[in-house]
Amino acid sequence: PLLERYAVVGNPIGHSKSPRIHSQFAQQTGQLLSYETLLAPLDSFAEAMQFFFAQGGKGLNVTLPFKEQAFALCHRLSEGARRAGAVNTLWQQEGELWGDNTDGVGLVRDLSHNLGWQLDNQRILLLGAGGAVRGVLMPLLASQPATLVIANRTASKAQALAADFDDMGPVVGCGFADLEGHCFDIVINGTSASLQGELPPLPAGILAQGARVYDMMYGAEPTVFMRWAQAQGAAQAQDGLGMLVEQAAQSFFIWRGVRPQTAKVISSIRESLLT
Ligand code: NDP
Repeated sequence: PLLERYAVVGNPIGHSKSPRIHSQFAQQTGQLLSYETLLAPLDSFAEAMQFFFAQGGKGLNVTLPFKEQAFALCHRLSEGARRAGAVNTLWQQEGELWGDNTDGVGLVRDLSHNLGWQLDNQRILLLGAGGAVRGVLMPLLASQPATLVIANRTASKAQALAADFDDMGPVVGCGFADLEGHCFDIVINGTSASLQGELPPLPAGILAQGARVYDMMYGAEPTVFMRWAQAQGAAQAQDGLGMLVEQAAQSFFIWRGVRPQTAKVISSIRESLLT
């Protein structure tokens, strides 16, 4: 076929923004490709994936709830994917299935490149200890923060995560109550609390002077976490739409060897959220 085929596979998948993002990348870079959504039955991810590649598919993005299964099926993994224990980008090379995880690179690129936030030498607080947080730890630690604290409702999960990554930099895990008396330059919410309109129970005074706050979640309205940050006097509060577009850009780069520009794509997806 003239158009090389790509897709995002998940369950549910109907509301994915990836087709819109990747077709804008393709148009912008003059690449001939198609990008569709693929709904895999909950018990047949491996079959759906293998069928897609057997039919000549070139690359897959993987979303909930299949990122860990994709990881387990890969023959070759990037260091980031191995550390994350999850894969969101698949492709085939010489008959082998390769996997990478571009979420963390996407987050760091949004923070540093798009928002211009300095990460090195900063006190960074990461909230949550699920898949999203695990996926971003390696690139965040590689940007050399002064300290990286992972705080989670279930403190033991944050401690276990920190132990998995403490060879990479100064990272510790704790519960929310342990944050009392500490303050941070950057706070990143990687919990799913915003989905239920809830806030992680953070002690007062957690934001340093000029602190910047990022919520991995995004939507038409500022999230409850962003509103909390503004009320606490944060210098900036940002949602995770840029991370979504940047992880897509990194996948596109892996597959096509071309790095798309993201600014216009972020604003166009932002506009579509509002309608
Ligand atoms: P998981 O289900 O793996 O983890 C959920 C985490 O949130 C756990 O740490 C859990 O704590 C915590 N949590 C849930 N509810 C609450 C609450 N009410 N108060 C405090 N903590 C809570 O989810 P993921 O890690 O996969 O995803 C987390 C978020 O990140 C989602 O909102 C997702 O949309 C977003 N995300 C955004 C991306 C982007 O591109 N912008 C990419 C990937 C994810 P406990 O361990 O105690 O249960």
